[in-house]
Amino acid sequence: MYRFNGAIKHKVIIFSACFFFFILISGSVIFFHVMRNFIIDHSVKESRQFAENKRLRLESRLNQEIELTVRLAESPLVRLLFLNPDDPVIRPLGIAEILAYGKAFSGGVVSWTCDADGRYYEGDSYITTYDPDNAYHRWYPAVRDQKEAFSLNVFYNYFAAKDWYLYINAPVREHEGEGAKGIGVVGNRVALSAFLSFLYSAVDYAAPPEAELYLFNGNGEITAARDFALVDAGAERLLLTDYFAEAGGKIVSEIHSLAPGASVSFIDNGVQYTVMPIPSLNWYMLVVRPIDFSLILGNSVTAVFAAMMGVIFLVFVIFTTYIVKLIKPVIALAETMDIILSITPNLVAVVDEKSRVLYMGKAMRDMAGYRSAKDCEGRPILDFFDNEDMKAMIDEAIQQNGYFETVHKAKTGEKWQFFKVMAKDIDSTFRGRFLLLIDITAAMMYGLTDPLTGLANRRNFDQCLKDEWKRAVRDRLPLSFLMMDLDLFKRYNDTYGHPQGDQLLKAVASVIAGAANRPADLAVRMGGEEFGLLLPNTKRFGALEIAERIRREVEDTCVPLANGKGVTSITISIGVACVIPALQKKAEDLVSIADQRLYEAKRRNRNRVCS
Ligand code: GH3
Ligand code: MG
Ligand code: MG
Repeated sequence: MYRFNGAIKHKVIIFSACFFFFILISGSVIFFHVMRNFIIDHSVKESRQFAENKRLRLESRLNQEIELTVRLAESPLVRLLFLNPDDPVIRPLGIAEILAYGKAFSGGVVSWTCDADGRYYEGDSYITTYDPDNAYHRWYPAVRDQKEAFSLNVFYNYFAAKDWYLYINAPVREHEGEGAKGIGVVGNRVALSAFLSFLYSAVDYAAPPEAELYLFNGNGEITAARDFALVDAGAERLLLTDYFAEAGGKIVSEIHSLAPGASVSFIDNGVQYTVMPIPSLNWYMLVVRPIDFSLILGNSVTAVFAAMMGVIFLVFVIFTTYIVKLIKPVIALAETMDIILSITPNLVAVVDEKSRVLYMGKAMRDMAGYRSAKDCEGRPILDFFDNEDMKAMIDEAIQQNGYFETVHKAKTGEKWQFFKVMAKDIDSTFRGRFLLLIDITAAMMYGLTDPLTGLANRRNFDQCLKDEWKRAVRDRLPLSFLMMDLDLFKRYNDTYGHPQGDQLLKAVASVIAGAANRPADLAVRMGGEEFGLLLPNTKRFGALEIAERIRREVEDTCVPLANGKGVTSITISIGVACVIPALQKKAEDLVSIADQRLYEAKRRNRNRVCS
């Protein structure tokens, strides 16, 4: 979350690319879905209109044939011929009339029979004689005796001419009027091959692309198709269920619930089927056309869509380039920040509202024993520290509001460490707190330590004396102080020189520091060749013992001369003060008492302890 690195640029590019592909994919899905529905709807409409148009053409053609047949059946001359088929005058006239009508038929063939002897003619040539036992002749009495003016015989199989025919038959009656007896039949035949090519050749409404037209009957048998081989399949007709498989079965099951004038459309395996009844024939018309992806891809709207996507892509590329350029300084700044935070010796962290680490700088990670910044994220910051002082100072800083600054010390191992603690709220991009701990131990020591001897300096001593005095008052514990001064140091300096004097001071300081063996003991260079030793919780006896030891050790200390020619030594006088601090007393009194004792020691010939 809070990583400062150059990956921002890649993130912008990846985000932009993802966004573009999201738009591309979702846009395409929606577009293709809408387009598919649109194309299907359009195709259904087109197919229906096509089928309807062909049905009208077909029916008008049929009606024309029927009308001519009926007119022929009602002709007085034909009626006369049927009554007297062998009359030498009437016969040629009747046949001529029939042939003349026949020329007007599209089928061009008129078949007729007469009832006197049941002879069957085609034109003027004799074909056969009506035989009641011949199944093919059964239609004849049915037509002759029926009340309607005509009958369609669409099932008749006329193999001899290698074609399927549609037969239109009309009864010829003995006279006009009620109850007239049927005396024969005139019929016309239309070859189905010619019928279909007539339908396709009709220029008034061209077939939609790739659409195929089929006619079939109520039994689901194909009765007409452009590919005549489908119809001329042999004695048996080809079934829809064989030719169109599943779709064929669906068509057959649908047609029975189909009202005249209605139509049904469905899609099966990428093919659209539209079925419409032809009531006058008692057949059905079927329009089959493929509905596939190429229809969508080849569409001009698709080209517009593709162009639009291209433009959107271009916009994304320009936008991303611009954004990347825009954030370049931010990236540079972030990288710089990253470097600063990884090399600074200061302890840096950013925590969220619940004191969980959002970022931890390298120095703090090193202190907590973590290598990667990622491992630190999300864990409570206090969990990273065992040291109670560290915990307390961090907790205080993150619990505060606004800007907070303080100085704290923490005891790490045997040493005290000083920290300048700073914290500030962050509430720009998220709510959290920035935490900075600067180790000021060295700086603090520089101000509190005597540079020559490394002992505490006077300022440090004054502060410690105050603290220890308060503590002793509170705990009612004795507090001792040793005030020490080298004997005749001026003479030593004059004899061996100032630098040698410094060496001696160092040697004495190390003796005094060595005597301060409790952590709370404080050895101090009070100034010049005067030293002090503050001994909290130490009674007079203990203090005297320490003082005596120092005196003896100083006396025994030999400091070699710089030129290597011999050694020197010195003695020290010590004044010891021991009080049990109380509120009415003052800390400075302890020093002045020790000072008085020291003066006494000097007076009594030096190199001694007075208390
Ligand atoms: P007494 O026994 O009475 O204390 O005699 P004394 O010579 O020690 O007398 P005094 O305290 O007056 O002398 C202090 C001398 O210490 C004076 C000064 O030259 C010397 N001195 C003070 N500070 C330093 C220092 O940092 N280095 C050196 N080499 N000498 C110092
Ligand atoms: Mg002195
Ligand atoms: Mg002195």
